[in-house]
Amino acid sequence: GAPLLRVEDLEVVLPSGATTGTVIDKVSFAVDAGRTTGLIGESGSGKTMSAMSIVGLLPPEAVTSGRVTWRSEDLLTAAPRRLRQVRGREIGVIFQDPLAALNPIQTVGRQIGEILRRGGMARQQVRVRVLELLDRVGIPDPDQRIDVYPHELSGGMRQRVMIAMALAGEPQLIIADEPTTALDVTTQARILRLLADLREQEHLALLLVSHDLRVMAHVADDVVVMYAGRVAERGPAREVLERPRHPYTRALANNVPAVSTRSAIAEPLQGAPANPFERPAGCAFHPRCPLAQDRCRTEVPVLREVEPGRFSACHRAEEVLP
Ligand code: SF4
Repeated sequence: GAPLLRVEDLEVVLPSGATTGTVIDKVSFAVDAGRTTGLIGESGSGKTMSAMSIVGLLPPEAVTSGRVTWRSEDLLTAAPRRLRQVRGREIGVIFQDPLAALNPIQTVGRQIGEILRRGGMARQQVRVRVLELLDRVGIPDPDQRIDVYPHELSGGMRQRVMIAMALAGEPQLIIADEPTTALDVTTQARILRLLADLREQEHLALLLVSHDLRVMAHVADDVVVMYAGRVAERGPAREVLERPRHPYTRALANNVPAVSTRSAIAEPLQGAPANPFERPAGCAFHPRCPLAQDRCRTEVPVLREVEPGRFSACHRAEEVLP
């Protein structure tokens, strides 16, 4: 069937001093119901901005074009009021830093309850449902935790509260922006497990933004690899990470032993990530690419299907081998 969410030719232009930068340049991808789609990239790749543009969380000076189709509705042109309704109910959002996203002077129970009340739930039912949600996200002793303030919880527990808040609206999609980056490795694994369980049990779709390939290898069904505001490669996660068809993905995967078990070439990623405000001509990856040729310096590679279900924006995709 049709994907739950479809992003087509998304473009985001931001002012920078006297000029402007196309920080997102014709990005297209889809999120299917019941699946986890991962947006991968270094900082500055545009992964977070692509995800946030879906729910209208961009700087006010950003100029966007393209289409973001949520079921059959274009969210890029939706009224702010409608967008607020979608965000928090139909689409839940989880941020990297729960402490910044939570209200420090309200108990966690009150903050989750607020979403339920706004959704029209009767006052007497709210507390029961909040307790259920806290339990659902694996917070022990919910009847004691419901009345604490965010700073009284550990980072992992705070992230669980954020997830409970995202679930409160009974969304069909959750967008999670680096949800485990601030956490220690053990807690990271638990939170990822929780998100994977929820996706399965609540029939959610998940759009996961992360720079961490290990995270993607564990939870993503599909991945979109971004570089300098463009899609470099996309396809089924396992295939993309194990048999990349873009030199950038190959370099990323080769740097993560847990992902690449049979890396033939040790190929550390040289140089700094491209700045989308000063994107190199042609293929933005060319200054760092071991396969770069003359053509790559002038001609922007289009994203094309290089094998069924696999898309790469590389002139030499056919020659990229693991
Ligand atoms: Fe490298 Fe050229 Fe492919 Fe860009 S288009 S990734 S520079 S080979």
